[in-house]
Amino acid sequence: MSLVLSVVVPCFNEEDVLLLFYNRMKKACDTAVPSGAYEIIIINDGSTDNTWQLAQQLVKDDPKVVAIDLFRNHGHQLAVTAGLMKSKGSRVMMIDADLQDPPELLEPFMKKIDEGFDVVYGQRKIREGESVFKRFTAKYFYRILSSTSTTDIPLDTGDFRLMTRKVVDQVNQMQESHRFLRGMVAWVGGRQVAYQYDREKRAAGETKYTLSKMVSFAADAITGFSTSPLRLAIYVGIAALFFAMILMAYVIISYVYFETVPGWASLGCIFLMFSSVQLIILGFIGDYIGRIFVEVKGRPLINIRQVLHRDS
Ligand code: UDP
Ligand code: MG
Repeated sequence: MSLVLSVVVPCFNEEDVLLLFYNRMKKACDTAVPSGAYEIIIINDGSTDNTWQLAQQLVKDDPKVVAIDLFRNHGHQLAVTAGLMKSKGSRVMMIDADLQDPPELLEPFMKKIDEGFDVVYGQRKIREGESVFKRFTAKYFYRILSSTSTTDIPLDTGDFRLMTRKVVDQVNQMQESHRFLRGMVAWVGGRQVAYQYDREKRAAGETKYTLSKMVSFAADAITGFSTSPLRLAIYVGIAALFFAMILMAYVIISYVYFETVPGWASLGCIFLMFSSVQLIILGFIGDYIGRIFVEVKGRPLINIRQVLHRDS
């Protein structure tokens, strides 16, 4: 029997919530997929608590549970990637284990896909129980990201989403090791739709995203989806050149009409000219590095949704 749905759940030290999550998710799956053709994939991302023992027990008790144990902590995005690669369902949901994303939204998400969408992603209306710092950084992070990136990455959206197999296959083809999944899914394209929801408090336990993990996550997002910072030197260089010309006029006028220290004018001109030209050239080099970066990532050239042929 082919699976209708795979639920991918990354877990890092989630012993406090895993069973709570499982019970709610299971109910939601039974409602949304009455045939029972689904799997819940729990990925243990190098936990140091009892998460793996709990996952093993769930596998024993429930044939619909698949548990994947990673050798060490690889971080949220790679843990989810492991789940995406092992998933077999014709639709895949990514969801956090901490119940901040309500499993019950599976049903409305499924309806959206039935309507013909490729991706339904949860968009947060409010974020409950999160610090002012987290809310502030999250808000501005998404806005800076969308202004630097050429991919249209939706605002205030996490990884909580339901995708069709075609989209998951396309994402799985992307081999980049610094993964920013929500951007990668957006990059695939197709019909993607937001579903607004209130993000709840973590059901139990602490956030597993430390400040350093958040910073490297943000860096992966910006560098993975934009090469524009590399080109920054061109703009600064052009501004500097403009400024240099005004200054050079001043230096030459001073040299011709007023008394100046010998050597000052020529040194001033050389310095101004060359430093702005250097910046511009640095920007060009940056542009080439950006292109090399895009090539090295080796993403699929074209995202083909389907090929239709009368005899097929
Ligand atoms: N997570 C993971 N590996 C990590 C960090 C987090 O698998 O290194 C999982 C975690 O168990 C949870 C999800 O990623 O299911 C989101 O993490 P968390 O809720 O701590 O992040 P927040 O919601 O605070 O941003
Ligand atoms: Mg959370």
